[in-house]
Amino acid sequence: MGLMSPEQYKASLNDGRLLYYKGEKIEDVAKHHELGVCVDSMAVDYHMAHDSKYKDLAVVYDEALGEDISRFFHVPKDREELLKMLELIIEGTRQGDGYIPLAHDIGADALNAISITAHTMGDQNYIDRIENYRNYLKKEDLAVVAAVTCVKGDRVLRPSDPEQEHPDTYVRIVDKNEKGIVVRGAKAHISGAAYCNEFFVIPSRAMTEKDADYAVAFAIQANAKGIKQIARPVKTKISSLEFPMERPVRVITDSLIIFDDVFVPWDRVFLCGEWQHAATMVYNFALMHRRTGSAYRIPLTEQLVGVAQAIAEYNGVAKVPHVREKITDLVIYLETLKALARSACQEPITYGGIAVPNPMTTNIAKYHFAENYHNAVKIIQDLAGGLLVTAPTYKDYSHPDLKEDIKKYLVGKAGIPTEQRLRMFDLIRRLTSSEFETIVLHGEGSMQAERMTIYAEARKVIKDCKKIAEELAEIEKVSLE
Ligand SMILES: Cc1cc2nc3c(=O)[nH]c(=O)nc-3n(C[C@H](O)[C@H](O)[C@H](O)COP(=O)(O)OP(=O)(O)OC[C@H]3O[C@@H](n4cnc5c(N)ncnc54)[C@H](O)[C@@H]3O)c2cc1C
Repeated sequence: MGLMSPEQYKASLNDGRLLYYKGEKIEDVAKHHELGVCVDSMAVDYHMAHDSKYKDLAVVYDEALGEDISRFFHVPKDREELLKMLELIIEGTRQGDGYIPLAHDIGADALNAISITAHTMGDQNYIDRIENYRNYLKKEDLAVVAAVTCVKGDRVLRPSDPEQEHPDTYVRIVDKNEKGIVVRGAKAHISGAAYCNEFFVIPSRAMTEKDADYAVAFAIQANAKGIKQIARPVKTKISSLEFPMERPVRVITDSLIIFDDVFVPWDRVFLCGEWQHAATMVYNFALMHRRTGSAYRIPLTEQLVGVAQAIAEYNGVAKVPHVREKITDLVIYLETLKALARSACQEPITYGGIAVPNPMTTNIAKYHFAENYHNAVKIIQDLAGGLLVTAPTYKDYSHPDLKEDIKKYLVGKAGIPTEQRLRMFDLIRRLTSSEFETIVLHGEGSMQAERMTIYAEARKVIKDCKKIAEELAEIEKVSLE
C-alpha cells in the first residue's frame, strides 16, 4: 500500500472498533465532532510524509521493499539517524502546535524495544516475528501506539500477589492453544489508542518467575474482538469566553483499554511467559520513549519562553533586571533540554543492531523538563500579573457598553493593543493548566522512575568519581561499595 494519505488514514478508522466517549458508543471516530479533532491532530504525521518540505525528515527509502516508508519504522543504526528521528518528532510537534502527532512515534519506540529484546534473547522465532511485523507496518504505514501502563492495582504488590484485589490488574495470558494466546486485563492512559490502527502491548514492569503469565507482549488491531476502549474527554474548542481563533485546535486523548479474553495469533506474540526478559523490554521502551518525550517537550518549552517574553513586553517590564533574569532562567531551561535531548542521540548505545539514545542522558533530559516545569510556570504566572485570572472575558470585551472601557483601562505598554494582551492571557491559561501539569509529570513514567534509572546507570560514574577522590586523599585499596 505504501505511505497512507491523511484521508486513507481517517477512512481506515471506521473499522467497527468498540469505543466509548463520554458515556456514548462511537460509530466512526474520524467523523465524531470532538474525537475527529484528535484524529486531525494525529493526521499531521501523514500530512508531513506527503509534504515535500518534510520529506527528508519524515520518509526513508527502504532498499529491500523498494519504496518510501515512514522514518519511524526504519531501524535507526547510528547517531545521525537518531538525530533525524529527534528532529522529526520536534518538527511534528511544532506542526501540531505543541501536541505530538503520535501516529507512529510511540509505537516505533515499542517496536524497537521488542526487536532489541528478541535479539537479546537470541530467539530466532521472535526475531522473525517482529521483523515480519515491522515489514507489515512499513508497507501499510499504520498508525500504531504503545499500551504499556497496566492499571496495576496496589502499586507495591507484584502482579501475581494474591493480595491484589483480583488477578487482572496487569495484562496476563489466560489461555494458549496451537493458534495463539488469549489475554485479559487493562491498560490505562494510552495516548492515541482511540484513533490508531493497532497497539503494541508490552509489560509495564520487570517480572519474577511467579509473574510469568504477565510477561506478555503482542500487537493487536484496535477493532479486535474483546477490546473495549473508553477515551477521556478532551477540550476540542476554545471556550466562548476566550478570543476566537482560526487555527485548528490540536489535542490528543488517552484511553483505558480493556482486554476481555482477546485472542492473539502466534505471529503477533513477541513475549509469552519469558519473565526474565520483561525488564529488557520495559527498560528499552522507556529509554526510547523518554527520548521521544524530551523531543516533543522542546516545542512546548519554546512556547513557554515565547509567552513569557511576550507578556513581559506587553506589560512594559521586559527590560527590568529581575524580569530579564527570569527570562534567562527560561532560556537556560529550554537550551538545557535541547542540549540533553541531542546529546542523548549523539552518544547512543547499540543494542540488537538498533541505536538507542544514551540511557543516562535521555533520562536526565526528560527529568530536567518535568522537574523544572513548575518553576517555568511560576515565572510566567509572575510575569503575567493578576489579570491572568481576573481579566474580563472575550464576551465582555465584545459587549458594546464595555469594549471601550476595557480597551482603555487594560492597556499595558503604549502601542500594544489591549486585545493583544488579553489574547496572550488566554494562551497562557491554556498552556499552564493542570492538565498540562499532569502530562509533564507522568507522561513517559513518573519522575521517580527516571531517578531510579539515572541512579542505576550512574553506578560506574559514581564508582569512578569515588576512586578519584580516594586517590586525591591518598587512600589505598578501599573495597566498600
Ligand atoms: C497524559 C498521559 C499520557 C500517557 N500516555 C501513555 C501511553 O501512551 N502509553 C502508556 O503505556 N502509558 C501512558 N501514560 C502512563 C504514564 O507512563 C504513567 O502515568 C506513569 O508511568 C505513572 O503511572 P501511574 O499514572 O499509574 O501512576 P502511579 O504508578 O500510581 O504513580 C503515582 C505515584 O506512586 C509512586 N509509585 C508507583 N508505584 C510505586 C512503587 N511500586 N513503589 C514506590 N512508589 C511507587 C510513583 O513514583 C508516583 O509518585 C500516560 C500518562 C499520562 C498522564
